[in-house]
Amino acid sequence: MDCFDCVLSLQERLNSFRQNHKIALVPTMGSLHQGHLSLIKEAKKHADIVVVSIFVNPTQFGPSEDFDRYPRDLKQDLTYCESEGVDIVFTPSTDVIYGQSLQPTEIYVPKLSTLYCGKTRTNFFKGVCSVVLRLFNIVQPTCAIFGEKDYQQFIILSQLVTDLFLPINMISAPIIREKNGLAMSSRNRYLSANQHHEASFIYQALHSAKALFLTGEFDSTVVINFITDIIKKQTSITIDYCVCIKHNSLEETASLNQHDKILFAGYLEQTRLIDNITL
Ligand code: AMP
Repeated sequence: MDCFDCVLSLQERLNSFRQNHKIALVPTMGSLHQGHLSLIKEAKKHADIVVVSIFVNPTQFGPSEDFDRYPRDLKQDLTYCESEGVDIVFTPSTDVIYGQSLQPTEIYVPKLSTLYCGKTRTNFFKGVCSVVLRLFNIVQPTCAIFGEKDYQQFIILSQLVTDLFLPINMISAPIIREKNGLAMSSRNRYLSANQHHEASFIYQALHSAKALFLTGEFDSTVVINFITDIIKKQTSITIDYCVCIKHNSLEETASLNQHDKILFAGYLEQTRLIDNITL
């Protein structure tokens, strides 16, 4: 496994593969867990060379968010990557990604970036798009793999790829969960044992809502109220949003159909938790 923190040497290495090999990119912020490793496994199905980027992107954190205390564990990350058979790890500094300019170029997908997570985290998707487009341009992968856990992010980045005619196959991979159902996240490290248990009610509520749908409840309002009732009664989670959206879009729907999704976001004290389920 090769590890690079500089663009030129990374590209030199990648150029030696480019002609005869498909290259997959798995962008991450490190502090890897089984969710990230599942993306690497998926990447290996689609490409000959797997590149994992590890970069805690400052531009996607708000001023009062957890950039400084975001978990970082490069040594452990590299061990995981090595054992998953990753070919190349890219670990750029902020200067490498954004240069010395005080006002680096920003990328913004309007409208979709203002919905749901974008309401409370106003610059979040601008930060995500700004870093991911840079990573795409640096690596020039054939495909890129993202987790369905961040479903809004996947839809927004897919629109960016379409709008900018990027020749990249966007692939999404299912949510990997802890034993108790909680969606794995680097931020789960912030949770106490008690909070970990409380947080598991998110998936329990989403799962029970899906069961409700499967018994014939198609009214989004009823299903959303069902979820928020569970969360309010069983946990101290502050709900940010709970919405039902149509299959393959971010458009809200009043009446549920198979393949639609329910998205949920909330806070357990300072820790932001997001999850979703496909009906
Ligand atoms: P992050 O390091 O949190 O920025 O996430 C990097 C990638 O891993 C994103 O595409 C996430 O959607 C994906 N990811 C994070 N958690 C999970 C999970 N529990 N299951 C599957 N993918 C995940």
